[in-house]
Amino acid sequence: MSYIDLHMHTDYSDGACTADEVLEMVRSSGISAFSITDHDTLGGYRHARTALRPGDPELVSGVELSVLIGEDDVHVLAYLFDPDDKPLNNSLLAFQQKRHTRGQQIVEKLQNLGVDVAFDAVTETADGSVIGRPHVAETLHRLNKVGSYQEAFDKYIGRKGPAYVPKVLLEPQAAIDMVHAAGGVAILAHPFIDDMARHIPMLTEMGLDGLEVKHSNHTAEQAARLERIAAKHRLAVSGGSDFHGREGRHGAIGSQRVPALYLQDLKKRAAQNRGRL
Ligand code: AMP
Ligand code: ZN
Ligand code: FE
Ligand code: FE
Repeated sequence: MSYIDLHMHTDYSDGACTADEVLEMVRSSGISAFSITDHDTLGGYRHARTALRPGDPELVSGVELSVLIGEDDVHVLAYLFDPDDKPLNNSLLAFQQKRHTRGQQIVEKLQNLGVDVAFDAVTETADGSVIGRPHVAETLHRLNKVGSYQEAFDKYIGRKGPAYVPKVLLEPQAAIDMVHAAGGVAILAHPFIDDMARHIPMLTEMGLDGLEVKHSNHTAEQAARLERIAAKHRLAVSGGSDFHGREGRHGAIGSQRVPALYLQDLKKRAAQNRGRL
């Protein structure tokens, strides 16, 4: 049996490892295919693509988008799209800029709460990466404004925290259509984090292609439930570690033992989608 990992982050977004480090871990994990799914950027994917050597595991194009459903920030993974698709790349650029502005807004809120931190310190932490809350958390920890990375989320920037600023998000239908137009498939990421599974029927109506069944934050029981839901809605199944390179969160690359057969089905669905365009 051959295994794959279709969900991991590099320091092009909020992962802690460089794309080269991630590629080394992919090589030593023994998986046969992988996807780098940074938030709102293809930088890590592109970097890995140029660093690939003959005999390396197959690299699948990927990105993790965020869509707004009600008040929920719902993550959608896109795979197998044309990485040079113009509308997709333009949209990613716009989201990168919005994340920058949002980082500034979070810092303003922190300052108003009496936390002495400058936005420059956050961009220094991010060092060119697409800015996410993990960079803010790391900065607060580095400057000893909190006792730990996690405390930054618990005290300030978590979903219910006083310095939380929501992202400017895509409409789910627009996101799914954009991924299809670029030749890819759209997969609901980690449906059991914050119980986003309740949105599955609506997203399926909108053309969602599949569910991320295997994920480091899902129990075996939740994965089994998601497989049943996927079968009921005729959705594909996918999976990955969601590796971020930080302690305590998400597993190691390859740890989810995702069967390579899942990727074959995703490829079939991507081809079918393209045929319908
Ligand atoms: P952002 O996309 O900027 O909203 O950041 C989301 C990322 O922040 C997630 O992918 C997690 O890595 C991290 N995160 C979000 N909420 C928490 C939390 N409560 N505790 C720890 N990390 C979190
Ligand atoms: Zn992330
Ligand atoms: Fe996610
Ligand atoms: Fe992720």
